[in-house]
Amino acid sequence: MSGDYLMIHYGELSTKGENRKSFINQLARNVRHALKDYGSPAVTSGRDHAFVALESEAMAGAIAKKLQDVSGIQKISLVHKCPKDIETVEKTALDLIKGESGKTFKVKVKRADKSYPLDSYGLACAVGDYVLDHSALAVDVHEPDITLNLEMRKEACYLYDHSYPGAGGYPLGMNGKALMLLSGGIDSPVASYLLLRRGIRIECLHFAAPPYTSSAVIDKLLDILKILNGYQEEIKLDIVPFTKLQEAIYEYVDEPYCITIMRRMMMRIAHEVALKDHCLALATGESVGQVASQTLDSMVAINAVTNFPIIRPLAVSDKLQIIGVSKKIGTYDISIRPYEDCCTIFAPKKPKTKPKVSECEAFEGKFDWKPLVEECVAGIKSILMKNGAPKDFGKKTE
Ligand code: ATP
Ligand code: MG
Repeated sequence: MSGDYLMIHYGELSTKGENRKSFINQLARNVRHALKDYGSPAVTSGRDHAFVALESEAMAGAIAKKLQDVSGIQKISLVHKCPKDIETVEKTALDLIKGESGKTFKVKVKRADKSYPLDSYGLACAVGDYVLDHSALAVDVHEPDITLNLEMRKEACYLYDHSYPGAGGYPLGMNGKALMLLSGGIDSPVASYLLLRRGIRIECLHFAAPPYTSSAVIDKLLDILKILNGYQEEIKLDIVPFTKLQEAIYEYVDEPYCITIMRRMMMRIAHEVALKDHCLALATGESVGQVASQTLDSMVAINAVTNFPIIRPLAVSDKLQIIGVSKKIGTYDISIRPYEDCCTIFAPKKPKTKPKVSECEAFEGKFDWKPLVEECVAGIKSILMKNGAPKDFGKKTE
């Protein structure tokens, strides 16, 4: 055995030509970024696969787990690379599964090197017979316990019997950018992660209402962004000074409609930011029915103020599922730190669960909110999270 690698099988790669090239190059960049904290192993990419060189097989599980969150990967296999002579291939195959006994196996061959003297069937028979003769395994070509994959390529032969499923989709950076409305709660960081995992870049927008909300929220957001930064090389956070607009809402709007109007205002501001920053969609951590204000009727009323698609990755997830993901990615302990959100502070006792767009418009007709929305957009402060550290704190960036 001359070395251990993780072989990355590309996801949804039906694209050709230039697109294929940029898929492969972008994925290699993303894989290198994802593995920065794993000793930056060498990553090489070819037409059909990329390879991550492993210093030791012991690292394989941890690295594969990290790669499972990198979009654009169909599966990840722990492969053993060996010279192509049939004797070495047979021995490597046996080495790979020699710990197993009483199970069934089959050999599955991919012969990318069309000039190899044995054809696929000949290779499968040779290796299968050798393993059969030297192990306590039996052959079952229909439902084997172990599938021994063999890829005969120009430069070497690769063998593997175990793969981890990947996230699929396209590499992050190929599918455009969404503007994520990020609170300090449990849901929106999980929604952010799901977008990233699907290959959608994000930029974040937070509505702060000092002095009702404290600066501790910003510390929480920065800690959350540090985690999300592990999936995207740099992430911008825009902080909107929302207090004046929020106070106006509570002065002019009947209490049950306050949350809906507030969300419509948030979306109007998000719309402006998305236009300026070339985002193609808005996104939230809302989940249908989770709280009174997150009904389908309410979503209709909120969506009516923008023609951007609003992606709600958690729309049909239940809370326990969401909590499970937040624990897995490490945002849970940050999210549960006590904090005040502008939504909770001003939360009406009985929010309208079936708000009507016409009534929203009637309330909004009672005060001059446009200059307040403009003030919010003009007052945005931006922070850029890069290499796990915030930059440009307090300065406005494009
Ligand atoms: P979360 O846990 O994400 O805060 P939640 O279940 O507490 O969600 P809400 O507080 O009703 O629900 O918020 C719903 C969504 O609205 C959030 O997931 C987030 O996308 C957005 N949102 C709420 N408050 C803010 C805020 N202060 N800044 C930015 N977005 C917000
Ligand atoms: Mg919240």
